[in-house]
Amino acid sequence: MNTEQKIAALRDQLREHSYKYYVLDQPTISDYEFDMLLKELQALEEQHPEFYDPNSPSLRVGGDITKNFETIIHEHRMYSLDNSYSKEDLEDWEKRIQKILGDVEVEYTCELKYDGASISLTYENGELLRAVTRGDGLQGDDVTTNIKTIRSVPLKLKGDFPQKFDIRGEIVLPIDGFNKMNEMRVANGEEAYMNPRNTASGSLKLQDSAEVAKRPLQCLLYSLVGNGLGITTQFESLDKARQWGFKVPDVAILVKSTDEVLEFVDHWETRRHKLPYEIDGVVVKVNNLQHQDELGYTSKAPRWAMAYKFKAEQVSTVLSEITHQVGRTGAITPVANLEPVLLAGTTVKRASLHNADQIEKLDIREGDTVYVEKGGEIIPKIMGVDLSKRPAASLPTRYITHCPECGTELVREEGEAKHFCPNAEGCPPQVVGRIQHYISRKAMDIEGLGGETVELFYKAGLVRNYADLYELTKEQVIPLERMAEKSAENLVNGIERSKQIPFERVLYALGIRFVGETVAKKLARHFRGIDALRNASLMDLVSVEEIGEKIAYSVLDFFQRDENNTIAERLKAYGVQLEISQEALQQRSNTLGGKTFVVSGVFEKVSRSGLKKLIEDNGGKVGSSVSSKTSFLIAGANMGPSKHTKAESLSVPIISEGEFLSMIDG
Ligand code: AMP
Ligand code: ZN
Repeated sequence: MNTEQKIAALRDQLREHSYKYYVLDQPTISDYEFDMLLKELQALEEQHPEFYDPNSPSLRVGGDITKNFETIIHEHRMYSLDNSYSKEDLEDWEKRIQKILGDVEVEYTCELKYDGASISLTYENGELLRAVTRGDGLQGDDVTTNIKTIRSVPLKLKGDFPQKFDIRGEIVLPIDGFNKMNEMRVANGEEAYMNPRNTASGSLKLQDSAEVAKRPLQCLLYSLVGNGLGITTQFESLDKARQWGFKVPDVAILVKSTDEVLEFVDHWETRRHKLPYEIDGVVVKVNNLQHQDELGYTSKAPRWAMAYKFKAEQVSTVLSEITHQVGRTGAITPVANLEPVLLAGTTVKRASLHNADQIEKLDIREGDTVYVEKGGEIIPKIMGVDLSKRPAASLPTRYITHCPECGTELVREEGEAKHFCPNAEGCPPQVVGRIQHYISRKAMDIEGLGGETVELFYKAGLVRNYADLYELTKEQVIPLERMAEKSAENLVNGIERSKQIPFERVLYALGIRFVGETVAKKLARHFRGIDALRNASLMDLVSVEEIGEKIAYSVLDFFQRDENNTIAERLKAYGVQLEISQEALQQRSNTLGGKTFVVSGVFEKVSRSGLKKLIEDNGGKVGSSVSSKTSFLIAGANMGPSKHTKAESLSVPIISEGEFLSMIDG
C-alpha cells in the first residue's frame, strides 16, 4: 500500500469509528485507540500535504480561524414554524389542511422540537460542501469551518445518496456536556453560560474553530431539501438521512389524527428531562410530500408543519425563608425555601439563590411571591419577584455576615461571587462534607459507608478527617446506632479496599477546591504523584493544559496548609495510592527489554502508532528498517514486499499483531 492509499484507509477507518461513536453512540474501539489512529493520520498528512482533503477526519479538531463569516443566500428558503399551544389550535390547523387537500386521509409525522440553533448543510457528491446558519431565512452565514468540527456531522456520506441536496437540522449542546463546560469555566474563574441553546448558537459564530471543536456539540437532522431526491414522505426522508450517516433521533412516529399527536406531546412533555438534550416542543408535519407541495407556504412558515410548544415551565409561589448552606469548601449558598409547588412533574420546595449579588439584583425578600423556573439544570431557579404581591412591611434582605453553622465571620475574596466561612478545620459541615466527598462514588467509592454514617462518626468523635477513616475498627463502629456486626465488617472492608483506588481519583477525593474529576485526571497524569504536585510552582501548574491560575492557586493553597500535608502523609502510610501506579508499567517494561521491532503494514486491533507506543512502553525499541539488529518484524496487512524479503533473508522472525500482543500480555 502506498502513502496515498494508507492515508485514505486511515481516513475511512476514522470516519467509520466516528460514525459509530458520535452518531450511533456505539463505539467499537477505545478512545485511546481512536486517538492513536488520528495521530497517525495527522503525522502522514503533515508529511504529505499533497494529499490534503478538506473533509479529512483530522480536521475535526479545528484550528482554522474565520474573521468574517461570508453571507450566503439560501438556495431554498429556511422558513420558521407556526406555533400551537392547545388541542384547539391543532384541530384548527387540521381543518385548514383538509380544506385545501379535500377529502383525503392525511398522515402526520411527529418529531421533537430540538432547542438549539438551526443549520442548513449542503452536500454534493456525498461530501459536505457548506454549512449555513438560518440568518433571516433568506440568507445566513457560512459557518462551514466550525460545523466541520462537530463529530456527528458526516463529512462524507454512506450508501445511496442523491448527487446534491440540502439537509436541515439543529445544532444542540447536550445538557451533560453543557454542565461539564460550565464546571470548567467556573473552575477557571469564568462566568457560567446561561443555557445550552444560547451556548450552541454562540458556538457557531466563534472565530476559532479549535474552540468550537472543544465543545460537545451535536447536530440533529430533521429535513431534506432538494430536487429529484426520489423520496415521497417525510418519514421516509428521516430514514434515508439516517442511512446516509446523519444523526436523526429515532423517536419520530407516524400518526393519523390530532389525538395521537396530543398523545405524543403528552408523552414527551413529561419525559423531556430524560433526554440528553433540551427540547421545547414537538413538530408535526404532513407526511406526504405531495400533500406538502399542495399546501405550500405562508409568507413565514410552511402550511404543512406546526410546532406544538410545551407550556412554559414556570410557576409562582411564596418564598417563606432564606437559609444558608455551607459547602465542603466553605462556600455559602443561599437557599430559597418555598411553599411547595408542582413544577414540571415534581414538587419543588427549595431553589438555589446562588449568591448575595443574585439576591440583590432580583431584590428577593422573605415573604415575596417569586417565579420559579426549571431549565436544563436539576435545581430550579428563581427568575423574579411578583412585586404586586409584596407585603407592605417587607424589608430588603440583609445578607448574613457570620457562618450559620459555626459563627465565624464570613469573607468574600475579590472577584468571588460567594461568601466563604474560613474556618475550614472547625466548621462542622465543611469537615463532614470533605469526608463525604472523599467517600463518594466518583471519588473513593467506599462501599458500606454513606453520608449519614459519616455524620454519625463525626458526632461521636470517631473521625475528624478522611485519614481517620483508615483507623476505624469494627469494635468502634458496632456500638453506633444502626450498625450491625455484618455492616460494620463491610464498612471496614470497604475502607480497606479503597486503598486500591488509582491516584487520579484519590486526588479528586482530596477535595482541593476547583479540582474536579477532569482536572484531577490532568494533574495526576502530568505530575504522576502527590510529591511532584506538592512541589510544583505556579508556573509548573499553569503550564499543564487547561489548568488556569485559579486552579493553580487553589492547589498551592491546599499544600501550604500543614494539616493537609499531615493528612496526605498519613494516607501514604496507610497505603492509599498517591502515585500513578508505576508497577504495571515497570513490570511490563522489562518484557521487551533489549529487543528491537520493526512495524509494517496496517493492523486491526491497534494502530501503527499504538503498536509503537506499546513497544516503547514495554522497554522495547522501534526500528525503521529491517536489519540484522532487528529482533522481530511485526507484519500487518499489505506490508511492503521488500521488508518481508529482507526479514526472511536475515532470518528475522516475522510475527503478527496478535502474536505481538500476547508477548506483552503474558
Ligand atoms: P421557531 O424558532 O420557534 O420559529 O421554530 C422554528 C425552528 O424550530 C426551526 O427553524 C428549526 O430550527 C427548529 N426545529 C427544531 N426541531 C425541528 C424539527 N424536528 N423540525 C423542524 N424544525 C425544527
Ligand atoms: Zn462555618
